[in-house]
Amino acid sequence: MLVLVINSGSSSIKFRLVEVVEEPRGVLITQPALLQGAVKGIGSVASFEVMGQTVGRSTTTLEIRDHAHALRVLLDRLAGSLGQIEAVGHRVVHGGDQYVNPTMITEQVEAGIDALSELAPLHNPSCLAGIRGARAAFGPTLPMVAVFDTAFHQTMPEVARQYALPVELALRHRIRRYGFHGIAHASLADGYAAGTGIPLEEVRLITLQLGNGCSVAAIAQGRSVETSMGFTPLEGLVMGTRSGDVDASIVSYLAEREKVEAAEVERWLNERSGLLGLSGRSNDMRELLRVAEQEQDKRAEFAIDLFCYRVRKYLGSYLAVLGGADAIVFGGGIGENAPEIRDRICRKMEWCGLRLDPDCNRAAVGLAPGRAAKITVDGSRPAAYVVAADEETWIARETVRCVRGVSS
Ligand code: ADP
Repeated sequence: MLVLVINSGSSSIKFRLVEVVEEPRGVLITQPALLQGAVKGIGSVASFEVMGQTVGRSTTTLEIRDHAHALRVLLDRLAGSLGQIEAVGHRVVHGGDQYVNPTMITEQVEAGIDALSELAPLHNPSCLAGIRGARAAFGPTLPMVAVFDTAFHQTMPEVARQYALPVELALRHRIRRYGFHGIAHASLADGYAAGTGIPLEEVRLITLQLGNGCSVAAIAQGRSVETSMGFTPLEGLVMGTRSGDVDASIVSYLAEREKVEAAEVERWLNERSGLLGLSGRSNDMRELLRVAEQEQDKRAEFAIDLFCYRVRKYLGSYLAVLGGADAIVFGGGIGENAPEIRDRICRKMEWCGLRLDPDCNRAAVGLAPGRAAKITVDGSRPAAYVVAADEETWIARETVRCVRGVSS
């Protein structure tokens, strides 16, 4: 089945065209992407990047008004190479309580995603713009599926889902720990199973998605039982620009002291904190590693230290949650490409049996999508792996499952 995967952000659309085929045993596998690219800078002069087996690689700039316009341009420019698309899979950030599985998009589902914008004002409106744009571009009959980033964490037990707030208040305002990055964590677990040949039903994993946004998940028998992001993606690890965990009292304290609204402080916690706030230089880990080494920048060095410390603190707590783990899986731009960060995180974890293999760790960079590499010595338990998670492949596969499920 030819599937177009669409990942819409506030001013960008990433897309990938993949062929999903079924093996004789009924397992769905995805061939390498036929075509992929992105439209960035929607709302003004945008760049249109595309790369594919038949079209080569190109970048053009043009005025793009909105998401619908971007998708029309995509369709016009690539009509000859897109083939007969049979389904579109959309990444949707927030599925609330109601969307626990990939869901065929109907008008009612669109309205549901729209209603959830209240809980995800920064994310769901862009996802919806992508859905409506694709509907306008591809017509009303093409099956479109929403794959939700929160869905994977719907299996968390109540103790992990709830905050210790007055229950009525939490219920009335739908405040609970939803968790995010679900597609990434699910595909990290999947990559581990594919790489090791060990079925997920038999293992306990801790998956680390370390990119610009960062989160960790505890996974038992393939199901998420705990994750670090909560009501919003702000909770948990130190991220590129997000603080992660802070004492909630800081919000009103800072609002009062700085004479700003609470929403403004929340914006600082989301956009000016984390690695950027600590270092005063950059949210980009690669840049921080560079200035820490070449310029002996003390603030950058400290930002990296705090980042690794927080990850280790969560690893310890998730080992307790799971009662021990078989493997820790690193993913995301930092997890996949920064051996020095993996080393700093794991170096102080020998107490739990984790023993890194320095050579394997150094070698595990730039893995092909979907690949896994072990970075611990034989006998280390937990073991540690690097997995190049492939979220688009995951979305494509779930899209096919959903379309087949509905039509069979
Ligand atoms: P997003 O969460 O936006 O998808 P990514 O998963 O692409 O982000 O991760 C971006 C982060 O990965 C940045 O902090 C970037 O510096 C970091 N990164 C990418 N390559 C390297 C590298 N070779 N060494 C260190 N950090 C890297």
